[in-house]
Amino acid sequence: MYPFADFHCDTLLKVAGGRVDFSRLNKAGHLDLPRLQSAGFVFQCFAAFFEPGAGQEAALRQTLFLLNEAREKILTLPGVRWVKRGADLRTEGEKSLLALLSIEGADFLGNDPFLLELVHSLGVRLITLVWNGRNSLGDGVGVGPGGGGLTDLGIKALKIMENLGIIADVSHLNEKGFWQLAGAARRPFVASHSNAWALCRHPRNLKDEQIKEIGRNRGLIGMNLCPSFIAEKRKDQSLSTLVQHMSHIASLVPVDCLCLGCDLDGIRRLPLKMKDVRDLAPLPGYMEEAGFSAKEIRAVCSANLLRFLAENLE
Ligand SMILES: [Zn+2]
Repeated sequence: MYPFADFHCDTLLKVAGGRVDFSRLNKAGHLDLPRLQSAGFVFQCFAAFFEPGAGQEAALRQTLFLLNEAREKILTLPGVRWVKRGADLRTEGEKSLLALLSIEGADFLGNDPFLLELVHSLGVRLITLVWNGRNSLGDGVGVGPGGGGLTDLGIKALKIMENLGIIADVSHLNEKGFWQLAGAARRPFVASHSNAWALCRHPRNLKDEQIKEIGRNRGLIGMNLCPSFIAEKRKDQSLSTLVQHMSHIASLVPVDCLCLGCDLDGIRRLPLKMKDVRDLAPLPGYMEEAGFSAKEIRAVCSANLLRFLAENLE
């Protein structure tokens, strides 16, 4: 069995909302600790996401609430090991699920960059700068063609994050912002949950030039299970089509740049024949059929993400 490691889920919202008890097997949601363990997961990143629109104060309050819920109800449970630095990834004999804390959409920040230091001290190690709309750092893909890129504060926030050791995530950022960030970045950045635009023309997917830029920068791209990011027609929204995205990306950049960013519990529908995280089991078989070697399958399913974090967390 190939171990799995995943860069993005929204399960924290379900846990904080009382709909899922992470420590137990639940009927609701896409994953919990028992299901991750039975699916062979060694690592999961948990995003604190708050649908923006109610202003900075509400976003800050809600983000802090979610970070606290994550600490209490996921990250400090028996059977979970909270990763805060690269050394925490040296896992010989480790049986616990390794877990990372991220924030999706920096709406909590407003005009107060010192809050980056605060959330770093609370264990956050990755921030997706924007969600689909606009915030003080920049514009997401949902703003549309007239959108701006990163603001001056967005560039400043990137520099502070790089100094603190918080990884910058460009998923949801519009193209203009992507290229500004790529120009300003001094450390590798990631697209934690985005697929290839060449195969499915969804605005959340990455153009070939963006993929190559992430490759040049030694970053990572996490493959997303969202059906509408995989293919336009339902009949094609399958794990085997997702593997075509992997093959396309691996034709542009080294396979080291690929990982999983499943977006479970953040997406309503799943690919065909999937009900929850346990149904990822056929993925390595599809990758083998597509010509990936056993070493490459292991790299994409877990090793690349673990190596990236070991190298890029302080
Ligand atoms: Zn997202």
